[in-house]
Amino acid sequence: KVRVRFAPSPTGPLHMGGVRTALFNYLFAKGRGGDFLLRIEDTDQNRYVPGAEEYIMESLAWCGMKLDEGPKEGGPHGPYRQSERKELYHQYAEQLVAGGNAYYAFDTPEELDAARSEAEAKGETFTYNAATRGNMKNSISLSEAEWKKLLADGVPAVVRFRMPDNESVTEDDLIRGRVTFETSLLDDKVLYKADGMPTYHLANVVDDHLMEITHVIRGEEWLSSMPLHVLLYRALGWVDTMPRFAHLPLILKPVGKGKLSKRDGDKMGFPVFPLEWKDPKSGEISRGYREDGYFPDAFINVLALLGWNPGTEQELFSMDELVEAFSLERVGKSGSRFDPEKTKWFNHQYLVAKSDEELAKLFLPLLRERGMEANPEMVARICSMVKERCNFVPEIWDQSYFFFESPSEYDAKVVKKRWKEGTPEMMTEIADFLETLETWKASEIKEPFSAFVNGKEWGFGAVMNAFRLCLVGGGFGPDLFEICEIIGKEETLRRIRNGIA
Ligand code: GLU
Repeated sequence: KVRVRFAPSPTGPLHMGGVRTALFNYLFAKGRGGDFLLRIEDTDQNRYVPGAEEYIMESLAWCGMKLDEGPKEGGPHGPYRQSERKELYHQYAEQLVAGGNAYYAFDTPEELDAARSEAEAKGETFTYNAATRGNMKNSISLSEAEWKKLLADGVPAVVRFRMPDNESVTEDDLIRGRVTFETSLLDDKVLYKADGMPTYHLANVVDDHLMEITHVIRGEEWLSSMPLHVLLYRALGWVDTMPRFAHLPLILKPVGKGKLSKRDGDKMGFPVFPLEWKDPKSGEISRGYREDGYFPDAFINVLALLGWNPGTEQELFSMDELVEAFSLERVGKSGSRFDPEKTKWFNHQYLVAKSDEELAKLFLPLLRERGMEANPEMVARICSMVKERCNFVPEIWDQSYFFFESPSEYDAKVVKKRWKEGTPEMMTEIADFLETLETWKASEIKEPFSAFVNGKEWGFGAVMNAFRLCLVGGGFGPDLFEICEIIGKEETLRRIRNGIA
């Protein structure tokens, strides 16, 4: 059975790249009858940020990714928070040492700094590995009696992986194909820290094994860790059940080079977080897609197409359709550029696809915030008239305020162009004529009105432009007779007379 996990570290808000990793895991699992797990990788206590874990869970829920197992959901492989699994990792570190695949290292931070400076002075960078470990303070360079004494005396020790001297490690990545690494270029990573906590590498591999993960789908920044992870599976004797790896390409900034960052969002006015995030230290608030008025299904649709393509022209996908269509074979190797304008377009597509009743339900609370009560049926009708012009629900107000209140000002440009000498007299005659009408339905106003105007020399266009200016305060909006009907006869006449005055 396919089992995948999303394994974020709670070091801050989840950004788009993170949500996309979660999404690809989710789609992959759900399309194959598999399980989708959340595992919180919180072994680095210095980087722990309060609120981040809840934020991650809320984001997944908002996006509609349901978890089969996780810290809240529980499950047969728990706990799902690494800090609560602390006791578990020590034995594997010991096992690696006993098997000669890892060793104790006693170097102090000062000694490590000194080694780095020394290398730097020679124009090199220090790598703790086969070439250097003999000069350092560890259970390989020291005699057994020496290092055992240090351990017994409680001298702080880390466990480092013993990277093979000169090996090629080859592994098939499901997106990148065959990848080969030379161990001579890699370092002896710390697996277990002096404070009794595992590092990411050890905890990650141990947990993926114990949680029976079949596929590790994660960001490209982890590709360089793959050889170490593969070697850990080998050293721990777990190769038979080793997961397959898939490293997702970067999400690139809209223009220029490099990976999408919060700064690009701030500069260009789009969020990079799914939900609003308040930094617990600085109090700084970063906007989120949810608060900006995006629908979760539109956001998901956008994310899915960042790196994956269906191989067809289809652009709009519901979550179910994504589950059906998604495969890792159709995830590209190269980064994909984020396009904020296209993202709005997607939201527009989801907005117009909603029924007028649904839109009214979303819009009514915004009216209420303005202290307005309106009939839901009428609001639905208004939504149907203006939704084509809106990307977001709050924009419905900008396109329809004149249904709810008379214009408080008139667009100066439109006034200059449409309000000429003689217009007041013309509009007075129009108001007088409209007053004589006995019924007030859009279709019943239109005909007699047209007949009346055609009998004059004003020109139909000039009349309509001035009329519109009176009713909405500008040169936009849906059918004028519809507006007349909805605001009512009295209000129509009042607005014309206000306009003249
Ligand atoms: N904790 C890692 C992260 O924050 C997980 C990487 C992985 O999926 O292996 O991205």
